[in-house]
Amino acid sequence: MDDIALNKSTAETETATLYGGKTFSNWESCEAFLSEWAKKQGFRMIKDRVFREKNIVRRRTFICDHGRNYDSNSSKDTASKKLKCPFLVNVSYPKTKNPRDLVFVNKVVENHNHALNREMIEFEESKKFTKEMIDDIRFMTVSCKFGATSQRRFLENKYPLHPIYSKDLYATISKFRPMQNSLSNDASQVSNWLDQQKELDSRWYVA
Ligand SMILES: [Zn+2]
Repeated sequence: MDDIALNKSTAETETATLYGGKTFSNWESCEAFLSEWAKKQGFRMIKDRVFREKNIVRRRTFICDHGRNYDSNSSKDTASKKLKCPFLVNVSYPKTKNPRDLVFVNKVVENHNHALNREMIEFEESKKFTKEMIDDIRFMTVSCKFGATSQRRFLENKYPLHPIYSKDLYATISKFRPMQNSLSNDASQVSNWLDQQKELDSRWYVA
């Protein structure tokens, strides 16, 4: 039904362990696995260094998002500068001696210098807007010129099970705001859209 639930169940059916020597059929499935795996452990994995050969990714390092490079130019307050998290995964896609054309996990350093928090990651994931919600927000912002209060009321009615936080809503609305200066606001398009929404949810009325 919704993407998050689908991704979760797909990942559950795969072997949920990460180890040196694990293989994947391509980079996409490798990255999808690593991202889901990390979230289950309670952190986020991000892409770090990459080595390409003729546009083909041959090696890539994935790190914890606490392992990101901080601005090393700032000389002040060195003592309080956080140490980078040492977690890393090295993955390769060898050109030779790779008859099955696989992507290999070469090395896993499973150490973190901070607490892992699966609940926090799950909470952040749960409040992410779905693609359908983002499409609605885009339309309400760009074509309808609705403010946050109307949008929130609409979203709460249409997606009663989805938590909606003002901060996330404002951030999403502001992403679409710059497009507002195009004055191609087609009134009939807006009213068609509103009619469609009313059919979907009879509790939604436009005053
Ligand atoms: Zn970490």
